[in-house]
Amino acid sequence: VKFSLGRSPAVRGQHAARRVVRERPQRLGPSGVDLGGLAEDLGVRIVARRNLGVLARWHRLRRATPTEPRLWEEEPDEADVVHLRSNAQTSARRFAIAHELGHAVLDREFDGRSTELPVGDQERFATAFAAELLLPQSLARSLRSRFREAPDVLSVLHLAQSVGAPPRVLLVRASRENWLVGLDVVWLDIRTLPNPATGRDMRPRLRDYVRDRTRWWLPPNRSVRGLFGDDGWLVRADREMAMSGSIDISRRRGSPAKWVHEWVPAEVAAFRMRTPGPGHGAEVLARVQLKPRDG
Ligand SMILES: [Zn+2]
Repeated sequence: VKFSLGRSPAVRGQHAARRVVRERPQRLGPSGVDLGGLAEDLGVRIVARRNLGVLARWHRLRRATPTEPRLWEEEPDEADVVHLRSNAQTSARRFAIAHELGHAVLDREFDGRSTELPVGDQERFATAFAAELLLPQSLARSLRSRFREAPDVLSVLHLAQSVGAPPRVLLVRASRENWLVGLDVVWLDIRTLPNPATGRDMRPRLRDYVRDRTRWWLPPNRSVRGLFGDDGWLVRADREMAMSGSIDISRRRGSPAKWVHEWVPAEVAAFRMRTPGPGHGAEVLARVQLKPRDG
C-alpha cells in the first residue's frame, strides 16, 4: 500500500463507502442504510456519551504493535469505538457516525497507521465516505426525480429526512450529478459569512448552490444583497420567507456559447435552517424558480 491517499482522498472515501454497502446489501433499505448494523459488521462499537465536546469521535483501541505495550488488554475483542454525543439531532447524528466509521475503515486500509496521513486528507476521506454511505447510488437514483420536482424547501427537507441524511448531503449529490439539468430552478445554501477577501462585512452570502451546470452560474460568496438587490426579506421573523424579484445570474447562451450576465425574474421560497445566535448568523436554504423571459 502506498502511504498516501493520492490526488483525491474524497474519491477514495466515496469508493470505500460504495464497497462497504455493496458487500452488505442487507444493510440497505428504502429509508437508508442501517448504520448500527454496518458498525456491527465492521466491528465498531457505538457508545453514547453525554457532554461529548464534538458530535462523535472514533477511538482506535487495539492496534498495538509488538514493540508497544498492550494498553487495552481488558477489552481484547474491541477494535474500534465511536463515542457519540447523546443529544444530537438524528440526521446530524447519522452523519457523525458515518464520518467516524469512515475513519475506522480508512485506518484498516492503512494497517492502523491512517493517523500518519495528512489530517486534511483523513477528513476529506471520512466526509466523502459519510456522504456516500448515507446516500448510496441506488437510493440517490430513487430521490433524483423527487428532488427535481420539489416545490419548496420543506419538501426537500422531508426528502433528506426520509433517508436519514442531512439536507446538505442531498444538495451536494444533486450538484455533483447535475440533477437539475434542463430546469430553471436554483437551490441556494445561504450562510452569514464575511467577505472572503477582507474577512469583514458579515452578511448573508452564497456558500454553495445547485443548478443546471450547463446553463446557470453564480459566483461563490456573492452576497444575497448583490444577488437580489436586497436582503431585507431574509431577516423577517418567520422561518419561511417568500420573495418575488430578480436575480443577477449568468446564463450560458448563444453559439458559440458564452456566459452572459443578466437579471432574471425569480420567485424565491426560503426557509431559515438556523436562527442567528451568539457567534453565528442565520443559515437559509432557498429555492429559486427562474422565469427567463425568453424561456
Ligand atoms: Zn473526522
